[in-house]
Amino acid sequence: SIIIVGSSNTDMVIKSPYLAKPGETILGGTFFMNAGGKGANQAVAAARLGGNISLIAKVGNDIFGKQAIELFKKEGIDTTHVFTDKKHPSGVALINVDDNGENCIVVASGANAALIKEDIESAKDKIANASIVLMQLETPVSTIEHVASFAKVNGVKVVLNPAPAAELSDELLQNINIITPNQHEAGMLTNTVVDDVDAAKHAARILNGKGVETVIITLGANGALLYEKDFFTEIAAPVVKAVDTTAAGDIFNGALVVALSEGKTMKHAVEYACNAAAISVTRLGAQASAPYRNEVADAPAL
Ligand code: ADP
Repeated sequence: SIIIVGSSNTDMVIKSPYLAKPGETILGGTFFMNAGGKGANQAVAAARLGGNISLIAKVGNDIFGKQAIELFKKEGIDTTHVFTDKKHPSGVALINVDDNGENCIVVASGANAALIKEDIESAKDKIANASIVLMQLETPVSTIEHVASFAKVNGVKVVLNPAPAAELSDELLQNINIITPNQHEAGMLTNTVVDDVDAAKHAARILNGKGVETVIITLGANGALLYEKDFFTEIAAPVVKAVDTTAAGDIFNGALVVALSEGKTMKHAVEYACNAAAISVTRLGAQASAPYRNEVADAPAL
């Protein structure tokens, strides 16, 4: 089974002709309310692709939290460890999108920021028996560090999608088997600027030097760079007409762990992840854009 530790948010989106300036009130267009949060997005993506998924997350004791849990159940996700916090509201993102697709986002982490080490206790048996743990950085890093070291000790593979971008301790990196930054995040982690494949290779070497066995840097429409065992593989993205790249990275990570949990090679898993993410960018929304297993072409067998 696959454990995903991470955030659950409700995204509230208003489209408007332009982004409001400070002090300004404008009339927007349509309002959308979508389930989001990187942890939840990745869990939904992985579940739709056939993964056996347990989500460890925290929501508030409110309508948003209840709705999120209902949705997870509908997707077939095990919600035993989706906790309801008494003190903090569910995480919410207020998103304003203009006619050019430019956006402005403010996130109130709420209950996500209250997912503490102690919450993990009740899930430890499940983690120890899992094949893979996937995490991101929208929940407290101390909790992620705790899960990573527990997983490592128990021989469970740890995948970290280091988003949103942050610097991480060397100690945490040493407990990560696979890291999946995008270019911006790879730059932040290595104090470099990653704007092409050569720069990505340089960043991958630095991360590998810090003890991460496998580095996968996602390159948007250019696919992904895989680095392991002193060897680089560039995986091209399928050419598609992108309409909304929201959550592309989340779909990529969800698909990656499903393929790995089924024993696929790393290259095969990255190809599968690129195929799933490419479908998601042709559709609007975050979780709504996540493809089902029958839609995603398997990577060529190796
Ligand atoms: P993030 O969404 O986290 O910023 P990227 O932009 O690198 O990360 O996208 C993640 C993955 O989604 C890429 O590795 C690629 O497989 C896929 N992807 C993103 N944009 C496109 C695109 N325009 N066409 C095809 N695939 C894409």
